[in-house]
Amino acid sequence: GTYTCDALIIATGASARYLGLESETTFAGKGVSACATCDGFFFRDQDIIVVGGGDSAMEEATFLTTFAKSVTVVHRRDELRASAAMAKRALENPKINFAWNSRVSALHGEGALESVTLTDTVTGQTRELAATGLFVAIGSTPRSELVRDQLELDAAGYVVVSHPSTRTNVPGVFACGDVADPTYRQAITAAASGTRAAIDAQHYLAELN
Ligand code: NAP
Repeated sequence: GTYTCDALIIATGASARYLGLESETTFAGKGVSACATCDGFFFRDQDIIVVGGGDSAMEEATFLTTFAKSVTVVHRRDELRASAAMAKRALENPKINFAWNSRVSALHGEGALESVTLTDTVTGQTRELAATGLFVAIGSTPRSELVRDQLELDAAGYVVVSHPSTRTNVPGVFACGDVADPTYRQAITAAASGTRAAIDAQHYLAELN
């Protein structure tokens, strides 16, 4: 059907990116997670893997050392993408090991995750690494398909808003939450921007009348 409106707020969010392994779904909630803040607590004194080389991966790895016995960051290259400060903090943390030029190619375990296979991205060699937790921190994808050809998006697909407002390039259309936030992506910042979008829309409607 066709819906009409005078003001519209886009709040479609973003999805965590996963590795694309079939077994990732099998082990979801049984060792595999995309959110250290949500699930880290369950991995007290365990060996954990974090996949990724960006700020998210460094932040998750550093955060997880509060609980974990050890954290191994698995990165597909030999150089981090993370900002210098975040990288330094992780590199200097004695509880964090790095598996460079490596990708997680298989997950193993009876019921819950017990180990993974790492494949060397240069030589193709494989090795097993014991771990009961696997945190995938390889970025997220904004869910902006709905408005792709209608609103201005940045190169990564996030809706562009004119900060500090939630206005998009189309008058009367506002965007809030993770679909318009490549940086903070926390529940509390998303909720706050939702409030700002509601107020922006209210002002816009008041001016229309
Ligand atoms: P990101 O910067 O895009 O980094 C994603 C990382 O995952 C990269 O290292 C990438 O490897 C790797 N990767 C991507 N796809 C992969 C795959 N299929 N298999 C294996 N590895 C893969 O994403 P992000 O770390 O989530 O950060 C997103 C934005 O949020 C950034 O602007 C970041 O600065 C910001 N952020 C900031 C903070 C903070 O300041 N506190 C915290 C979190 C995020 P390559 O390097 O080889 O491409």
